[in-house]
Amino acid sequence: MSSKKQPPLAPTPPSTVFALDARLAQMREGCIECGACVRECAFLRRYGTPWRIAHEWGSPRAEHERLPFSCSLCGLCATVCPQDLDPRALFLDMRRAAVRQGLGRYPEHDRLVDYETRGTSPRYTWYGLPEGCDTVFFPGCTFPATRPAVTRKLFHFLADKVPNLGVVMDCCTKPSHDLGREQAFGERFFELRDWLVQRGVRRVLVNCPNCFGVFARYGEELQVETVYEYLAANGVPQGANLSGAVSVHDPCPLRDQPQAHQSVRTLLARMGLEVKEMKHHGTNTVCCGEGGNVAPVDRQLAANWGNVRREESRSRTVVTYCAGCTAYLSSYVPAVHVLDLVFFPKLAAAGQAKISGPPLTYLNRLRLKAWFKRTIKAVHERVRPTGLDNGS
Ligand code: SF4
Ligand code: SF4
Repeated sequence: MSSKKQPPLAPTPPSTVFALDARLAQMREGCIECGACVRECAFLRRYGTPWRIAHEWGSPRAEHERLPFSCSLCGLCATVCPQDLDPRALFLDMRRAAVRQGLGRYPEHDRLVDYETRGTSPRYTWYGLPEGCDTVFFPGCTFPATRPAVTRKLFHFLADKVPNLGVVMDCCTKPSHDLGREQAFGERFFELRDWLVQRGVRRVLVNCPNCFGVFARYGEELQVETVYEYLAANGVPQGANLSGAVSVHDPCPLRDQPQAHQSVRTLLARMGLEVKEMKHHGTNTVCCGEGGNVAPVDRQLAANWGNVRREESRSRTVVTYCAGCTAYLSSYVPAVHVLDLVFFPKLAAAGQAKISGPPLTYLNRLRLKAWFKRTIKAVHERVRPTGLDNGS
């Protein structure tokens, strides 16, 4: 079905505010160099306390140019800071400043930028809203690409419970957000958000923690909820009959979402699995190593987080609920996505979950797009318009 004609979108300026000077001043005045964040973070152990970094910012030390791109933006520093400071926000604003000055366009980031550009292209996107739709399922990029069968099962489950459920196959543009590409993020995410809001959507169900973070912070009228809470509240899974002990890696974009942490543990308990907590979990969790796209510019710092998980898990299987975390942690520990366990328990518990790799991942997204188009009777539908900013 074709979409109804809609009025043109009003131009939407980025809501991210360039605030580096204020952040630097706050850190210079507020940080007491207690070392609590430094003890948790290899990046800070290398570069010094946030107070020192803030004081030295702008000096000719060559390392400063790349410094903010070596922070994983995981937020553990903010969690442990007794002064309620947020070093992560400072490093993100440093990234934005570098991009604005033309210093932050590293060839090492091209791969991720290309991934996002493809994910937001007309070829891979599709929005489908049935009559009366106020809730959409937003599966994200990596999860549906690597797990199309689980994505279909998850959609069927949700559509059974949520009347008139729609779908949005698109990228939330978290990569641009975290790389400091304010203009690209603003144009891409706000265009997505406004299209949905103008057509009556008020709720977004996500499986990806990064998508959750973006919608929670910038979604405005859009309420966002994880599918884990939804599954736990609706009595699944049933009859998995697994046994044994696992640990849970809580993805850092959800560190402030205790309901999501608890929901995943509820799902595991229903399957018969015992959770043995690692030292860092819940609000105190660590990055898996993928955060902030650090690995392309500093493999050693990114790998530090994986090594933390290897030590803390003590050879137990680590269950997580982010496709990126699962892939990244798999180099260090036996890692499994909780949704693989929910929908294919025996295979996933045996370490045989079907997870596609490139180039099949792109084909999977095209096949899923075709499947959603057949499955949903859309009264509003579209693909992303071309010509959005590419963040130059
Ligand atoms: S956000 Fe994470 S990686 Fe960055 S400084 Fe804080 S704890 Fe370290
Ligand atoms: S925890 Fe807070 S006060 Fe302590 S060194 Fe880190 S930023 Fe400074």
